[in-house]
Amino acid sequence: MIVIEGCAVATVDAAGTEHADGHVVVSGDRIVAVGAGPYTGDESVTRVDGRGCLATPGLVNTHHHLYQWATRGYAQQEILFGWLTELYPVWARIDAGIVHAASAAGLAQLALSGCTTSTDHHYVFPRDGGDVLAASIDAAATVGLRFHPTRGSMDLSAKDGGLPPDAVVEDTDAALAATKAAIDRFHDRSPGAMVRIAVAPCSPFSVSPRLMREAAELARAEGVRLHTHLAETVEEESYCREAHGCTPVEYADSLGWLGDDVWLAHAVHLDPPAVARLGATGTGVAHCPSSNGRLGAGIAPVRDLLDAGVPVGLGVDGAASQEAGQLGAELRQALYLARLRGGPAALSARESLALGTMGGARCLGRADDLGSLEPGKLADVALWDLGGLGHAGIDDPVAALVLGPAAPLRLLLVGGRAVVQHGVLSTVDEASLATGLARAAKELR
Ligand code: ZN
Repeated sequence: MIVIEGCAVATVDAAGTEHADGHVVVSGDRIVAVGAGPYTGDESVTRVDGRGCLATPGLVNTHHHLYQWATRGYAQQEILFGWLTELYPVWARIDAGIVHAASAAGLAQLALSGCTTSTDHHYVFPRDGGDVLAASIDAAATVGLRFHPTRGSMDLSAKDGGLPPDAVVEDTDAALAATKAAIDRFHDRSPGAMVRIAVAPCSPFSVSPRLMREAAELARAEGVRLHTHLAETVEEESYCREAHGCTPVEYADSLGWLGDDVWLAHAVHLDPPAVARLGATGTGVAHCPSSNGRLGAGIAPVRDLLDAGVPVGLGVDGAASQEAGQLGAELRQALYLARLRGGPAALSARESLALGTMGGARCLGRADDLGSLEPGKLADVALWDLGGLGHAGIDDPVAALVLGPAAPLRLLLVGGRAVVQHGVLSTVDEASLATGLARAAKELR
C-alpha cells in the first residue's frame, strides 16, 4: 500500500470534493481510500509526504500524434492545409524505429506534465515502414503510461479530391482489414486495461465516405470507440460544403459518426445547431487549445459545448503543431482561450481541471475507472509540488496549478506504479530519450 498524506486533494468527483489537508491511499492498481486529515489505517505501508503538494487525478490526453515528435519545428507559419502539405512527404518516410523514438519522447513529456493516460492517433502507415503501431504501444509500456492508441487511416488522395499525396494513403479495404487486425491484436477489454484500441479515419479531406461509414460499422461490431478530426478550420468547412453540400458536423451525422462512442478532435467551427447536436448525441470533443493557437485555427466554443452537455477533454495534439507537448500546461491554455472567447466567467480553474481529468476519461470511455480520485478507481494519481517559487503563496492550490506555471511532480502513479518521482522519470532515462529523438528527427530531415 502507498499512503500519500499531508497534501491538498482535489478529487474531481461529481460533488467536486476537495480537502485542504488530506490523504489518498493506493493498494495494488486501485485507490482504496481518499479523505481529510492523515490516514489512520494499516501501518505497514509506504508513506509519501505530500506537504506543499496537491493531489489530483492523473491527466488524460485525448488527442495526439506521437510520431510527430520527430517532425517538430516545420511549417512554422502555415494554416492547417499548408502545414499538412509541407509535412505529408516527410511523414511518408517514417518507420517503426522513428515512431518508437518519437513516441517514447512524447509519452515521457506527457508523464512529466501530469498525464497518466494518453491516446494516439496514428494514420500514416508507409508500406515499408514496419510495424509502427506496435512500436508506439511498446514505447507506452516502456514509459509506463496507460495508452489508447487509435488505428487511423487515409484513403482519399489528391487524385481523388483529397489533400494528401498518394504516397501516404492506403487502399480502403486494406485500411479496414488492418484496423480489424489491430483490435484483435491489442485491444484489452479488462477493467484495468493498459491498452485499448479505437478506430480513427483521419479527417473529411483525407478519408472517403465509404471508409468513414465502414470504419464506424467495424468499431460498433467490435465494441470499440471512434475518433476523428472534425471542424478544425474554416478551410475544412469550405471543403465540406463544396464536396458534400453540408457542414462538417452534418457530414459526420450523415455517416453515423455522432454518438456517445465517438470523440472528435478540435470541434472549433460549430454553429449553434452543431453544438446542440453534439450534446444530444453525447459525442465527445478533444479540445486542443495550443494546437489551435499554433495553426491559427480558431477558438473552440468550450463554454457552449459544456452547457450543451458535451463531454470535453483536453488534447495536446501532435507535436508538429504543438511543439511543447505538455498536457499540464493545457489546463491554463484552455482557460485562457475560453475567456478570450467568452470573458472571465467562461471557464473556472476547477472546470479546466475537470476537462483535463474527468472530461478526458469520458471521451475515452473510461469514466468508471479513471478521471477522479475515488475508492475503487484505478490508482492514476498526480501529486503536484506547489511549494516552489512558481506557486508559493497562492492560497488556492487548484488556482495555483491551473493559473501558475507548469508545476513539477512530486509523484506520478499509473495503476499504482511510480512513473515520475521528484520531477524525474523513474521508468526511462530522459537524456537517452532526447538523444534518440534527435537522431530520429535528423534521419527524417
Ligand atoms: Zn490532430
